[in-house]
Amino acid sequence: MENVIAKKKFGQNFLIDTTVLDRIIQSMPNNNNYIVEIGPGLGDLTEKLVKYKDMTAYEVDTDLIGILKSKFAIQLNEEKLKLIHTDVLEAWDKQGSLHNGKYDLIANLPYYIATNIILRAFEDKNCEHIIVMVQKEVAQKFTARVNEKEYSSLAIITETLGVDSRILFDVPPESFNPPPKVMSSILYIRKDMNKTIDKSFKDFLKACFTQPRKKLSKNLSSIVDKSIISELFEELDINDNIRPHEVSSSLYSQLHTKVRNGRN
Ligand code: SAM
Repeated sequence: MENVIAKKKFGQNFLIDTTVLDRIIQSMPNNNNYIVEIGPGLGDLTEKLVKYKDMTAYEVDTDLIGILKSKFAIQLNEEKLKLIHTDVLEAWDKQGSLHNGKYDLIANLPYYIATNIILRAFEDKNCEHIIVMVQKEVAQKFTARVNEKEYSSLAIITETLGVDSRILFDVPPESFNPPPKVMSSILYIRKDMNKTIDKSFKDFLKACFTQPRKKLSKNLSSIVDKSIISELFEELDINDNIRPHEVSSSLYSQLHTKVRNGRN
């Protein structure tokens, strides 16, 4: 590894395990999509990705940009790689999308903003696959199924937008330098490019999970009159004692539509 001191504030844990790097490459979908990487770091994953496809990498750290520019001088010159020196969240704010055509996001994410990045990738109309390294707990939140205790708004949004979502494999701290304090996982999500979620549904889910261990009817009473909740539950055959994590994403969609349309 180059003589670099990892910066905690940028969530820098460099992946040094070549077996893991190879497994990420093997899990890449077989399609013509462009590749976007967030946080190329020292470029170990980038080096493998750019052999397959043209790509853009967004990196915030000025010191790393210098290293990457000399390491990838040839690929940059041949325009196989575009290196963009910016905070990726600002790029999304400015551009709306990280690439002006269909792309797959493949990255070892900075954990301090990983959830935010995945939610932004959901909103990005050009992003189809998301294959990212995240903290294991975060991966579980996105892939939890109904009735599991981690099932919450992140999993429901993923199910509503996705055609496939799962954890591909776990990665131990020793695979990184410096090692993070947590287990990591590779999260795989394939979005349905025809689906979107509006803010009203996200706000509705937020209200439903205000107190995740309380009854759903109690949480809903902050936005819907109690007598209406009873009628809606009866119409949709929902038990009054049900907890928020026991309701499926499709039932949440139906409930939201009825609440929004004044039940009709
Ligand atoms: N891809 C490298 C690897 O696998 O070894 C580095 C991964 S490291 C976990 C996260 C990377 O994201 C670092 O290079 C860090 O500087 C970069 N990063 C952190 N915050 C960022 C941001 N807001 N926008 C773009 N890159 C960011």
